[in-house]
Amino acid sequence: MRIHFLGTGSSAGTPVIGCDCPVCSSGDAHNQRSRASIFVENEDTGILIDTGPDLRTQLLRAGVRKVDAVFYTHFHADHINGIDDLRALNFLNKRVIPCFADERTAAELEARFRYCFLPPDPGWAKPSLSMTTITSAQRLGSLELLPIPVLHGNLPIYGYRFGAAAYLTDLKTIPEASYALLRDLDLLILDCLREEEHPTHVNLQEALAIAARIGARQTLLTHMTHDLDFYQLQASLPPGIAPAYDGLIWEA
Ligand SMILES: [Zn+2]
Ligand SMILES: [Zn+2]
Ligand SMILES: [Zn+2]
Repeated sequence: MRIHFLGTGSSAGTPVIGCDCPVCSSGDAHNQRSRASIFVENEDTGILIDTGPDLRTQLLRAGVRKVDAVFYTHFHADHINGIDDLRALNFLNKRVIPCFADERTAAELEARFRYCFLPPDPGWAKPSLSMTTITSAQRLGSLELLPIPVLHGNLPIYGYRFGAAAYLTDLKTIPEASYALLRDLDLLILDCLREEEHPTHVNLQEALAIAARIGARQTLLTHMTHDLDFYQLQASLPPGIAPAYDGLIWEA
C-alpha cells in the first residue's frame, strides 16, 4: 500500500495570500502546503480521500490517472471544492466515479454539486459521480476502508482506517468507541492545526496527546497552518512523530 500526501495544509493553504510571515515567505517546498487530501493505492485499487480546491495540481504532481472511489471526511469547502477536477478522470477512464460519505456530507454534496450526480454525460463534459451513504467498512478491490467517527468541534465527521493506517483530519475529539478502532496502527495521519488552541481542531499539544494514546508505530501530522514551520516542528517532536509535507509518499 502506498499513501500519497496530496496536501497537508489547512483551509487557507500555506503560503496564505498576502502573508509575509517567515513560513509563508520561506520558499521551501516543505512549507508549501496545499489543502489536505491523500491518495491511497495498492496494486489494483486507488482511493482518493476528499477533493479539495487544489485537486488538479495535486493529481498532476502525484501522477494519478485513475481513482476507483472517493471517500469524503466532511463537507467543508477545503475538502470538497475541487470536485469538478474529477471530470478529467471520468473522461480518461470513461466511467462514473463512486463516492462515499456520511449522511450529512452526502446530502451537502448532492445539493451543492447536483450536476455531478445526474446520469452520466455522454461526452463526459461534466463530472459523473455516484453517492453512497456509509456507516460501515467498504471494500474496493483489495482495499477496505473503515469509517472512524470523530468530532470536528460539534460536527460529527469521518476519519478512515485502511489496513494498518488511519487518516484523521479536522478533529477536536475522538469518541471512546473510535479509539477501539485505532489499535495496532503502523501509521496514524493526524490533524495538527497550529500551536494555539482552536475550537474545532486539535492544536499541537492535543495532537501529541492523541498520538501518544493511540500509539501508532509512526504518526504524521497534517492540516497545518502557516504557524508551523516544518523544520522547527520536526526538530521539536518526539521519536515516531513527524510533520507530513505535500508530495510525501508513505509505503507499507
Ligand atoms: Zn479542513
Ligand atoms: Zn504566513
Ligand atoms: Zn473542516
